[in-house]
Amino acid sequence: MANELFWFKSFRFELECESVDNMNMLNRFIAYHKDMASLIRNNQDEIDESNQKLTFVMLTMGCICYLFFIGVSLLLQHYRPLLVPYVMELTILCFLSFLFPAIVNQVPSAFFIYIGYGTLIGFSIYTSAFVTPNYTSVVILLFLSQIPIITLDKSWRINLIVILYSVIYMVVVIPYKDPRLISDEIFNCLLTVSIALVLGEFLRRARLENFELKRQALLREKTDFITGLFNRSSLYDYLMELQQTTPEEALGIVMMDIDYFKKYNDTYGHQAGDVCIKKVGEILLHYSQRVHIQFFRYGGEEFVGIAKGYSSEELFQICDKIRNEVYQLRIPNHAMEGSFVSISIGISPVCQSADVADLLHKADETLYAAKASGRNRVMVYREDLNRRILLSK
Ligand code: GH3
Ligand code: MG
Ligand code: MG
Repeated sequence: MANELFWFKSFRFELECESVDNMNMLNRFIAYHKDMASLIRNNQDEIDESNQKLTFVMLTMGCICYLFFIGVSLLLQHYRPLLVPYVMELTILCFLSFLFPAIVNQVPSAFFIYIGYGTLIGFSIYTSAFVTPNYTSVVILLFLSQIPIITLDKSWRINLIVILYSVIYMVVVIPYKDPRLISDEIFNCLLTVSIALVLGEFLRRARLENFELKRQALLREKTDFITGLFNRSSLYDYLMELQQTTPEEALGIVMMDIDYFKKYNDTYGHQAGDVCIKKVGEILLHYSQRVHIQFFRYGGEEFVGIAKGYSSEELFQICDKIRNEVYQLRIPNHAMEGSFVSISIGISPVCQSADVADLLHKADETLYAAKASGRNRVMVYREDLNRRILLSK
């Protein structure tokens, strides 16, 4: 078994290597960019968080730096002409710092970085052209090189914005510059921007891969390998969370168990058993995305669903559809004469209570009642005056 797995893995690895070697440059380029696009899509939350943190740091640092520059230009006569642009720049940065917390979640996260650097570059262009035409510009190159290195966004958008800012800089500034500095200015700008774009691409890739590794590790920790559903430890985290909050919607817990699964394993083998669990899991995963029930693999061939906002009758209807879909998979199980794999489902009472342990216990009790009364059925927990479970259907 272990050897088989090893062979399978190494075979796949060889296949992948071969396909990469056979790729021409264009296909490699396309594959690289598709890969980057999926890294960005999968890690959008981390990317937003990182961009927002950096925007906050850059705005704070920008304000401190400009306060320092203003101090220097007040103290030294030589820098006095720069005082007005510095004060204007500080005003804009303070305005952006004030605006940032208010709209941070309403605009794309890289937007503030582009706007922030756009204004800095705008003022640097003004300063370079009209205040210091006899000096080569250094500050603007610093700003241009920072954008691709710190921003996390689609590469084409970052590169386009940096190139656009550089072109604006050269077109606007060069006519006003001392003619002896023009070749230096163009050379410095081209060199700095090229290095920053290449370096930015490498750093971005490394940061995105790091996010992806963390995401995969978290996914492995929280989900079940066979079904892709959340696992038992996620269920307990979720139940703890529910326990600590006052529920706004009615809560119902559903417990499911595959019928005669031990015999299924004994007849068809454990690998076929895994495939069967996977198929049932796929149905639950599909329902998790369509209805307000979060399903978890509780263990073995048992699943738990936490439903929000449904009445008992609605929950019964949904669960009965699930039961029927599993049966309609028509996976033969000779444990039941001439029959197919089926599941039994127990539904707890639906209520506003946050006593999830009690709901879980009642769902489990109801599941056993469903098993006892013939399997392949759904039952809802109801208490009559004698506190007995009643069959819903
Ligand atoms: P019932 O209808 O009463 O539920 O009967 P059952 O045979 O399904 O119940 P039981 O709990 O005795 O059997 C569950 C079996 O599920 C036992 C175990 O071998 C099998 N099982 C648990 N986890 C896995 C798994 O991950 N893969 C496979 N293939 N089998 C599993
Ligand atoms: Mg079981
Ligand atoms: Mg079972």
